[in-house]
Amino acid sequence: MVSFSRTQLTGFGCLLLATALAVHDHLSNPRLLIGSSSDFMVAQKDTKDTPSDLTELAEQITNSVDATAEIEERDNIFQISSGDTMMSMLARIGVAREEATRAIEAMKRVYDLRELKVGQDINVRFRKDSSKKEVSLTSLSFKASLENEIILESSEDGVFSAKKYQVALQKVQRCVEGTIDSSFYSAALKRGVPAQVVREAINALSFDVNWQHDPTRGDPFKIVYEVYQDTNGNVVRADNLKYVAFDPGGKNNVRRVYRFQPVKGTPGYYDANGVSVVKTLLQTPMDPSKMRVTSKFGRRIHPILGYSKQHKGVDFAAATGTPVRAAGDGIIVKASYWGHYGNIVQIKHNSEYTTAYAHLSRMKVKVGQKVRQNQIIGNVGATGRTTGAHLHYEVLRNGIHINPQSLKLLPTVKLNPKDLADFRRVKMQIEKEIAEMPSAPSQIASVDTRIKTS
Ligand SMILES: [Zn+2]
Repeated sequence: MVSFSRTQLTGFGCLLLATALAVHDHLSNPRLLIGSSSDFMVAQKDTKDTPSDLTELAEQITNSVDATAEIEERDNIFQISSGDTMMSMLARIGVAREEATRAIEAMKRVYDLRELKVGQDINVRFRKDSSKKEVSLTSLSFKASLENEIILESSEDGVFSAKKYQVALQKVQRCVEGTIDSSFYSAALKRGVPAQVVREAINALSFDVNWQHDPTRGDPFKIVYEVYQDTNGNVVRADNLKYVAFDPGGKNNVRRVYRFQPVKGTPGYYDANGVSVVKTLLQTPMDPSKMRVTSKFGRRIHPILGYSKQHKGVDFAAATGTPVRAAGDGIIVKASYWGHYGNIVQIKHNSEYTTAYAHLSRMKVKVGQKVRQNQIIGNVGATGRTTGAHLHYEVLRNGIHINPQSLKLLPTVKLNPKDLADFRRVKMQIEKEIAEMPSAPSQIASVDTRIKTS
C-alpha cells in the first residue's frame, strides 16, 4: 500500500489518489492504486516547506544537486520496445540495479517475465528524491493477459511483493447527452463523465473547434465512453472516450469524432470520413505569449561560431523554466544530455515524423514513455552550446530536418484501404449502439463523486 504519512501532498492528481485509496477499501481489486497516465503529484516533506518553483530556480542557478530534498511522485506508462527486458526498462527510468533486481525477483514468483510482449504498456509509479540520483519504485502494474493483471508494490520499508489478480471487471459502455452551460468541460462533468474522458473529448475536437470562441450556451453534445465496473455494478475505472459529437454555436454543423485503432497503429480519433483529427504537429510547442522567435529555420550566421551555418530548427527565447509541450502524440525516443544540444528530448510521432526539443533545464519524461499532444515534457533552459535561455525546436520528416513553421501544410494522416474498411465497420457499430442506447446519467453518480475532485 502506498503511504504518504510523513509527507504532504500538493498539486494536481493528489485528490484523485486520496479518493481512489478510499474507494479501494471497498473493492477486492486494487487496480485504482495505479492511477492514470501522466498524472503526477509533488509530495514535499512538511519539514521543508519550500515552494517548488523556488527550489527549481535555485537548482537552475547553482546547477548542482538540490539539498532541499524535493520529492516528486510520478505515474507514467512505459512501453516495452524491441530488445527490452523488465530490467532494461527499469534501468531507463532510473531505478538502481539492486532495487530493480529485487522487484524482478518478486514479479518472477507470479509471472514469467519472458512472456512480456513488445508494445506492452507498463504502468509505473516512482518517486524522485531530488537529493538522490536514482528513483525508487513505488508500484508497477501491467496486464499479463485479458483476465490477469500483475501488480507489484513496495512496502514502507522497501520490500517488494507481487500479486496476480483475476480481473473480474466488466466493461460497460455509457452514453451521455447534454447541452453546454458555462463550458463544455463543466457541462460534461455535471452529467457524470469522468474528467479524463472529458479532456480526451476536448483534445479530439480541438482541431475543429476553437474552444475560446465557438461554444455557446445550449450547444448540444453527446459522449460515448466505457467504464469498468465490478460484479456489484460499482464503477472502478473510466476507460476511453469512444465517440463525441458536438455542435459548436448550435448551427447544425455537428462535429463527430470516433476512436479507432488501425491494425499496425496506435489508437486515435478520426472524423466520419476516416481522416485523423490530428491535423498537424504544433508549430510552437509552448505558450505563445511566453516566447518570441529569435532564429528561424535555414541559413544564418551562427551566434557563437560566427560563420554561416544551416539552422536546423527554430529558436524560441523564453524565461528559464517555461514549460515545453509535446508537439503531438508519440513515444519518447531520447531524453538525455547530448553535446551541443544540452538536455534534449526527442519524440517519435509516427513512422514519418520526429520532433526534438533542445537546451532544456529540466526533462520531465523518460525514454519509452508515451506522451500526448500538449503534455509538458520539460522546461526551457540554457544547457549545451547556447548564448541564453531558449528552446531549439526541430522537426524531422523521414530523418530530414524541415521547417517547423511550415507544419500547417502537412497532409493529414489517411487510413489505408483495409483500415478504412475496418473504420467504417467500427463507426457503424458505434452509431448502431448510440441509437439503441438510452442515455443513463443517473447510474454514473459513483464515477462523478470520485473523479470530479481531480
Ligand atoms: Zn537553434
